[in-house]
Amino acid sequence: MSDDYDVIILGGGAAGLSAALYTCRAMLKTLLIEKLGCGGQVLVTENIENYPGFPKGVLGPELSKLMEDQARKFGVEIIYDDVISVGDLSISTKKVDTGKSTYTAKTIIIATGGSHKQLNVPGEEEYSGKGVSYCAVCDGNFFKGADVVVIGGGDAAIDEGLYLTKIVNSVTVIHRRDTLRASKILQERAFVNSKMKFMWSHVVEEFVGGELMEAVKVKDVKTGGVYEHSAAAAFIYVGFEPNSGFLKKYLKMDDSGHVYSNIRMETDIAGVYVCGDIRVDSDRQLGTAVGDGITAALSAYRYISEE
Ligand code: NAP
Repeated sequence: MSDDYDVIILGGGAAGLSAALYTCRAMLKTLLIEKLGCGGQVLVTENIENYPGFPKGVLGPELSKLMEDQARKFGVEIIYDDVISVGDLSISTKKVDTGKSTYTAKTIIIATGGSHKQLNVPGEEEYSGKGVSYCAVCDGNFFKGADVVVIGGGDAAIDEGLYLTKIVNSVTVIHRRDTLRASKILQERAFVNSKMKFMWSHVVEEFVGGELMEAVKVKDVKTGGVYEHSAAAAFIYVGFEPNSGFLKKYLKMDDSGHVYSNIRMETDIAGVYVCGDIRVDSDRQLGTAVGDGITAALSAYRYISEE
């Protein structure tokens, strides 16, 4: 029996859509399975300033739509579903199961990216959607004129904090150290923004409130003092973890669940490729995700051609 597709791509972020563009243009029959909406991290980023070719920046949702339209133009089939499992990847026909259907292909490109990490403190789950959020672009507008906090000190925390300053009254960045990890250009912008405040060397111990979140309980790690800081919302940006749980049985990963690949995006299983944020050594940038996706597509093309 022949396979349903030449290529199945898991994940419709920048890496997956770039891979789809190239596999389709190579005339490979391609299915892309996406869980939520195409674009991934790009879709929930307000303005992207570091993607080459857009000196004035580009809105994330706009760029996602362009990438999706371009891949569709060349014939990718996109379905919205959750991948439950992949069968034995080492056999030549690869199987992907979504619970509703099973699809087969000669090759699989895994571009499932990652999800924002949780803090795992009391109240986080209880107030999720009631003040606790992992997406400023999605939820920021609910807190117009309010005082909010952002937790974390990396690019995502500062970038999203700056975005929030256009909507809210103040943004207090709660960071566990006294220096930021974020890039210098973002730091400079944050330090001169009068709506940005910093709570250095503090960790969040709990989210508290009534029906809605009203405050964060913080601990000063230098003095040990614990107190409540009022905030209508808390946006958590404490890093990223790869969406790779469903692959554990099959692919070699590091301790944090990133999948190993070579520079051709090949995993240790023939016909299986990884690209974007899910792979070990990814720089987790839009531009590198696009490059990874293209390389994975070209590797899949070579593999199928040589079969
Ligand atoms: P990240 O760079 O790993 O930063 C995570 C931040 O959260 C760090 O400051 C870390 O503190 C803090 N943190 C981690 N665990 C914590 C905990 N349990 N409690 C309190 N704080 C905790 O992650 P990211 O900011 O999500 O960025 C991920 C990648 O995406 C990066 O490569 C970044 O460059 C990229 N990105 C880029 C942009 C942009 O270019 N505008 C925007 C978003 C993301 P420490 O510093 O003490 O470790």
